Order: sequence, then structure tokens, then C-alpha cells
Amino acid sequence: MDFVFEVPRFPQQGETLQGFSFARYPGGKGANQAVAAARLGAHVSFYGKVGNDIFGQELLQNLKENGVNIEAVEQEQNAPSGIASIWVAESGKNAIVYVPGANALVDTTYINLVLSKLAFAQVLLLQLEIPLETIAYALRHLPSKSPLIILDPAPAQDLSGLLLERVNIITPNWAELVTLTGEKEVEKAARRLLDLGVGQVICKAGAEGAYLITIKSFRHFPAFPVNPVDTTAAGDAFNGALAVALAEGRPIEEAIVWANAAGALATTRKGAQPSLPYRRELEDFLKTYAQYKKRPQIF
Ligand code: ADP
Repeated sequence: MDFVFEVPRFPQQGETLQGFSFARYPGGKGANQAVAAARLGAHVSFYGKVGNDIFGQELLQNLKENGVNIEAVEQEQNAPSGIASIWVAESGKNAIVYVPGANALVDTTYINLVLSKLAFAQVLLLQLEIPLETIAYALRHLPSKSPLIILDPAPAQDLSGLLLERVNIITPNWAELVTLTGEKEVEKAARRLLDLGVGQVICKAGAEGAYLITIKSFRHFPAFPVNPVDTTAAGDAFNGALAVALAEGRPIEEAIVWANAAGALATTRKGAQPSLPYRRELEDFLKTYAQYKKRPQIF
């Protein structure tokens, strides 16, 4: 659950500062991506935990209202729901404190309980807002063929404990790619991840669109021309759309065009989940920009 404070500036130590406004929104990368995929028409199940508090109830209700299956979500008795306190200053800069709460308790015991269901999915979207050991365990124990695994390495952290050979696609944004590899140049950085065993790298590159890097190729997929008002959750829209397109059997090139379109649409609206597009909107948008495919994509 995101608690968003609009403030004139960040407070000093010991200071009490009056803010401009406050609002509360359902958030979390996993939940945002689940909602993104469900709005685009996929059958989506969410795995994870919420706390035994009012926020937990609200988070579950929100997922349900967006058509996400929450049967496997556990409500932890002794932990709060994961929360983030987000300060947005007049300068546009933000500062965030988050407490993982129940997210930190998504452990290997839980994975064992849900493993057979996860293995049954066509696509599994993973993010790093649960413990890395849990991700590591899931990657080691899921069957090697199915599901297709997309790992969003956010927030960026050391991935050396993960069986990256089991990750079919990794989707860092530009900053995460640099943090993960220490390389500033996209292709060089992505090749480091490929060397670690990842199948394909898709770098989300903001207003530049996205890059697909495989052992054999490096391709650029330009962004759709839009007037962005708020880029929050653009990356989550991107991942949700990528997963849906691949689950529908579309080729990776088409899936990235979908993902770029969903990301672009998300930037044209304020907020996180409110900005995630529905299937109809995405299809209309793609039709409008049908010319896009005629642009050169390989260099
Ligand atoms: P994140 O939200 O994870 O930081 P990005 O900022 O790279 O990731 O945005 C994710 C995707 O959203 C991009 O790959 C692109 O497809 C789309 N996007 C982001 N910013 C813009 C923009 N200014 N114009 C068009 N598309 C954008």
C-alpha cells in the first residue's frame, strides 16, 4: 500500500513539516504487474502475502476487482501489510521509505505450497520485492520447460545467488541494468547478464523505448511518441503486456511492441494502477500507430 505525501520539501531531522496533500493507493510491483496483465485480458493469479490489517483487506479487494485470482494469497497473522511512504517534493523529487511487512515472509514453505500451481502457468512474472532466497528457491524447483519465466530485477540487487539459466527473460530498466552489471553501455551490460545464463535481456529504456539483447542480436524498439505526464508504473505496464503477449503465443518482437505501447499509455496518465491500460485501449492505440512497425528496428 502506497502512502503518498505531497510536501514543499523534505523535512530536516527533528522538524515537523506541514504537507500539501495525502493519498493512499494500492501498489507493489507484483500487484501492479498482475493488474496490468489482467486488464489486458489474461487469466492472472497472484502469489504472495498481505498482513492481517485493513490494508491487507483493501489490497486483496483491489486485486479481485481487477479480475486477479487471489486464492493463493495468504494473510499473515503477525505482520503488517507491505507499505511504502512516498514523499513527493515540489521540486518533483521523491523519497521513499518502505517496510516489506508480510512480503518478507513469502518464504520457501510458501513456495512449496504453491509450486504445482506455478508450474502450471504459461508465464510467471517475478519481481524482487520478496526475499531473494525465495526467488532462488523457486527458480531451482520449477520445471525446466514451463512456465516461461520473466524476472523483473527491481529493486536492483545482487543476483549472484540465483539460477539465472532458468530465467528466460530479464527486464531491467536502464538504471537497474547499470546497477546489476556496473556497465554503463546497454549492450555490454546486457551481455554480462547473458553470460550469467539468462535467456534474453529486455532493457526498458524510458523515452527511448526498449532494447532486446540475445546471444546473437541487439535490437532497438523505439518508444511510441506520447506526451508523458507521469511515468509511475510504466515499467509495470510494460512487464504485464509483455507477459500477456507471450502467453498468447506472439513472437517476442510483437510482444515488445505491445509492451512499449502499454508503457507509453501508462505515462499519459497520473498514478500507478489508475494509469494501467485495458485491452481495448491498447488495441486502439496499436491500430493508431500501425505505421510504427514500418520503422527500422534493427541496427
Ligand atoms: P521504469 O518504469 O521501470 O523505470 P521505464 O521508465 O524505462 O521503466 O519505462 C518503461 C517503459 O515505458 C519503456 O520501456 C517505454 O516502453 C515506456 N515509456 C517510458 N517513458 C516513456 C516516454 N517518455 N515515452 C514513451 N514511452 C515511454
